[in-house]
Amino acid sequence: MHSRWPTSLHPNLSNLLPLSTLQTPTKGPTFRKCIALLQTQKSYPKIIQIHAWSIRHGIPITDPCMGKHLIFSLVSISAPMPYTHTIFTHIHGPTIFTYNTMIKGYAESDTPHHAMHLYHHMHALSILPDTHTYPFLLKAIAKLMDTRVGEMVHSQTIKHGLDGLVFVQNSMVHMYATCGLVENAYKVFEMVPEKGLVTWNSLINGYAINGRPNEALTLYREMGHHGVAPDGFTMVSLMCAGAELGALALGRRAHVYVLKVGLIGNLHVGNALIDLYAKCGAIREAHWVFGEMGSRSVVSWTSLIVGWALNGYGEDALKLFGCMEREELVPTEITFVGVLYACSHCGLVSEGFEYFNRMRDVYGLVPKIEHYGCMVDLLGRAGMVNEAHEFISKMPLEPNAVVWRTLLGACAMHGHVALGEIARSRLAELDPGHCGDYVLLSNLYASDGRWLDAQGVRKTMFRKGVRKAPGHSLVEVGNCVHEFVMGDRSHPQKDEIYAMLEEITKLLKLQGYMPRTSNVLVDIEEEEKEKALCYHSEKLAIAFALISTPSGTAITVIKNLRVCVDCHVATKIISKVFDREIIVRDRSRFHHFRDGSCSCKDYW
Ligand code: ZN
Ligand code: ZN
Repeated sequence: MHSRWPTSLHPNLSNLLPLSTLQTPTKGPTFRKCIALLQTQKSYPKIIQIHAWSIRHGIPITDPCMGKHLIFSLVSISAPMPYTHTIFTHIHGPTIFTYNTMIKGYAESDTPHHAMHLYHHMHALSILPDTHTYPFLLKAIAKLMDTRVGEMVHSQTIKHGLDGLVFVQNSMVHMYATCGLVENAYKVFEMVPEKGLVTWNSLINGYAINGRPNEALTLYREMGHHGVAPDGFTMVSLMCAGAELGALALGRRAHVYVLKVGLIGNLHVGNALIDLYAKCGAIREAHWVFGEMGSRSVVSWTSLIVGWALNGYGEDALKLFGCMEREELVPTEITFVGVLYACSHCGLVSEGFEYFNRMRDVYGLVPKIEHYGCMVDLLGRAGMVNEAHEFISKMPLEPNAVVWRTLLGACAMHGHVALGEIARSRLAELDPGHCGDYVLLSNLYASDGRWLDAQGVRKTMFRKGVRKAPGHSLVEVGNCVHEFVMGDRSHPQKDEIYAMLEEITKLLKLQGYMPRTSNVLVDIEEEEKEKALCYHSEKLAIAFALISTPSGTAITVIKNLRVCVDCHVATKIISKVFDREIIVRDRSRFHHFRDGSCSCKDYW
């Protein structure tokens, strides 16, 4: 009997000792009860209660075993890390398990840098990391996007002989890919002997979120060659990459695949498919997917509402929103961005205000800066620029550069120079050096016939060295997405493309087309070269699609900047002369060109 008790807790001494030391903390019934309670309670207040109860019943706050269980429970319910950390600091001699749990907690929190602090702390105390330390730590580093630390930790996994473990390698691939060091990610990836689904997904996903969707697609094909079957997560990543690229044919193949393997019932896959089709301008197909879905979430509804709105089908977007309300679903802030965007592009000013108020009054959603931006756009597009200015002055939020830019754009569009200059002066304070603002200001003066001022703006811009981001366009032909930059001569079929461009130019001239060089609203791209206008990336992409696809095939082009006036006019005529539907997704919206006109009604 006596041997079961540690000497300090000998029963003979029991009446001399305070309650807290009477029980063996790790073996007593109080302890066991606490552990049992912790395993069933999944709420933060309950866990705090158990903690308080354990202290009252004599388990010291410093007990490493109790601390370990408590921290594990708190981290597993994503409790606030400061509280968890307080417990951690009280523990006498925390084990590697507790350190790992803390690192995991921080990796999943908003303060991932503390994971790194703990790791250094471990080092200082000569506590060796184990197999579980690195996956959590690398996750935190991926969140911090700290490549220097990432490489340092990589070398330490080698030092500790843990770099050969597949799950450490997977985390490493994910970390590098997320940090944008795609080459490093690929090097580690190649070293993984048995590339499981997780490994592939780590890299795919990494490419997709790094704006390198082309690599993601190549990798997806390699996956097929290696006989690894994609799962729902892979398909969602792939579809995100496809949406980014406007890869419609790929999207259709992915659609067939998910139908075949039965993943179509997966809600996330369905939502990704809606988004993909909508972003490729194939909004009817997005609608079809929506209609076929067995179960839908608010995300599904929102994706389609935003899709209709961005594709210029504002009325359909609003109709769908009406259905959503009748189904008594609760719209989100993003749903309202779609709804307000729809109103703005359809010129529905009073409806826009009704929805704006509804958002707050009926759904209790506090409008964010994006929603205020939509309202300024709504008024501005309708030509109500003074009302838009008044709306800005009454905003409860500090108007940001986007809001002022929207007003400046509206002023340029409607020729309100004085107000435009006010907007411009705010922008100069908030976001100096934004190339788009110079373009808008130059447009503003041009709209009033002040050509010298317009030219002056452009000169200032060049003197200050403000450069426009280079324009590029993507077009999918066959199984491949082709990328073109302005004046691109790198494509293997460049000779045919340029020959086609010349033919287009001739045909356009027959239709009365004049290249818009100087006396129209000015676009900075014109600054590049006199001839450059003919070689804007979207024109190259369209010329390439015209020679590479059968007549009658719709052409989808994805452009990273706004379409310039000249390309817009040219594309309208091309759609008529070549009898093609051309869909251009630019930075702000979709243009559906058909039979000589555009769905944006020349306002974008
Ligand atoms: Zn252009
Ligand atoms: Zn258009």
